[in-house]
Amino acid sequence: MRLAPAMPGSGVAFRRNDLGGAIISARYDQVGQTRLGTVIENGNGASVGVIEHLMAAVAGCEIDDLDVILDGPEPPILDGDALSYLSLLSQAGVVDTAGSREAIKVKRPVSREAIKVKRPVSVGTKEARAALFPSETREFRFEIDFPSAAIGHQALKWRFSREGFAADIAPARTFGFVHEIEALNKSGLGRGASLENTLAIEGDKVINSSLMRFPDEFVRHKILDAIGDLALAGAPILGRFEGHRSGHGLNNQLLRALFSDPDNYNRVSLD
Ligand SMILES: [Zn+2]
Repeated sequence: MRLAPAMPGSGVAFRRNDLGGAIISARYDQVGQTRLGTVIENGNGASVGVIEHLMAAVAGCEIDDLDVILDGPEPPILDGDALSYLSLLSQAGVVDTAGSREAIKVKRPVSREAIKVKRPVSVGTKEARAALFPSETREFRFEIDFPSAAIGHQALKWRFSREGFAADIAPARTFGFVHEIEALNKSGLGRGASLENTLAIEGDKVINSSLMRFPDEFVRHKILDAIGDLALAGAPILGRFEGHRSGHGLNNQLLRALFSDPDNYNRVSLD
């Protein structure tokens, strides 16, 4: 994987160099499969899988435009978190494009756009749901409930900031049940998922618990996933996200529901 600067206003796009340079835009309406991570497709047979952890890091650095160049079907999993991508992006540095070609064209600095939630939008059922509510801050509330005592009930309320993302959310590793990780590897997705980077649960135990970085790492990772999935909106969402046992499928349905009615949101300047 190579991360490269992109033109202001171009958004985040993946390029499959192994498929003749096929471009797949990182947008919610390009999402196909969501069973084992979020997969985006370009409609011509090219896809990229498990993009959510990289997308979370991109959103966590508040990067709007980026080219992601791949020579395979998914970004490398690295440490199973967003921190490993965040470190790469921090090393490279970020340029404020309010002085860009676009800004010169319209003769004023172009401010960063956000999508402001105007009224509640929710998807799912009582058992599993995802919702967005109007709020002046970018807030995340997540609750999970697993029968396995290794996870159990975990809840977290967290407000977005770049520093907070790096400290509280980005380090939270991905997790799965041992049989799921085996199925993931067999299906050709999550190719890099292993006991070195993925918290693996068997029965009521995390079998590689020495990798754990937080006691409530699982709910933190669910917020990481939600940040990555919501980044496919194309701009930060100004509002409160609430997830109750939500996953990639519901997170994507939520964006589709949000954008299905223009009365649900406003496009506003973040300054
Ligand atoms: Zn994840």
